[in-house]
Amino acid sequence: ASSRPYLIGGNWKANGTVASVEKLVAEFNAAGPIPPNTDVVIGAPFIHIPMLLNTLRPDIKVAAQNSALTGTGAHTGEVCASQLKDLGLEWVILGHSERREGFGMAGEDSKLVADKTKLAIDEGLKVMFCIGEKKEEREAGTTMDVCAEQMAPLAEILSEDEWANVSIAYEPVWAIGTGLTATPEMAQETHANIRQWVAANVSQKVADAVQIQYGGSMNGGNAKALLAENDIDGGLIGGDHSSWSFSTSSTGPE
Ligand code: PEP
Repeated sequence: ASSRPYLIGGNWKANGTVASVEKLVAEFNAAGPIPPNTDVVIGAPFIHIPMLLNTLRPDIKVAAQNSALTGTGAHTGEVCASQLKDLGLEWVILGHSERREGFGMAGEDSKLVADKTKLAIDEGLKVMFCIGEKKEEREAGTTMDVCAEQMAPLAEILSEDEWANVSIAYEPVWAIGTGLTATPEMAQETHANIRQWVAANVSQKVADAVQIQYGGSMNGGNAKALLAENDIDGGLIGGDHSSWSFSTSSTGPE
């Protein structure tokens, strides 16, 4: 998409076993080279991250799927951005719609996701910052209101320079894990609106540079057309990684 590099992310959610991770790593390590101008980053559960760092080819980067709102301390069960950085990670996925929803617990609101993002950037990580509307919000014509509400607290606290560490992952919730994909035209329209919002609320410079990934049932069959759109700078591909393969004939994991 235009002159921006591609960012292809994977998010295998709370899936996987030691054996399935070993198998995936072997497949990825045996696959061909990553296309030029493309970064590939896999989001794994915390427990699998050390394995990946030790065994996965180094040109595929590893991301966590969450990080804490706080620094280290008495926060049982949390994993801090500083600890991810210390382990050798470059990336974290934040604000995924499943975390915003909350799995029956209190979900993460936009201010909290923005605060986590700021902390992660302060600690030296890059963030795939997920946004996106639900089905009823798209049907009500409020897609951009929802995306703006999700980005606004971040725009308030990040400096222009800090935006270099953010990739916006636009993931319409109705397309995640459903097999329903936004058409390239629909996705492009929303991506252009998101970029326009960044121009108006951050700066034109950041809007021109920021990568906007599309997520939501992206696969080997539809990735090419989506990635051909001007404002689509990559993908975020979810699901159980046992169904993933890495093919370099298209861009990134399928
Ligand atoms: C995701 O969880 O970020 C995602 C895009 O999932 P899927 O590719 O399964 O729709």
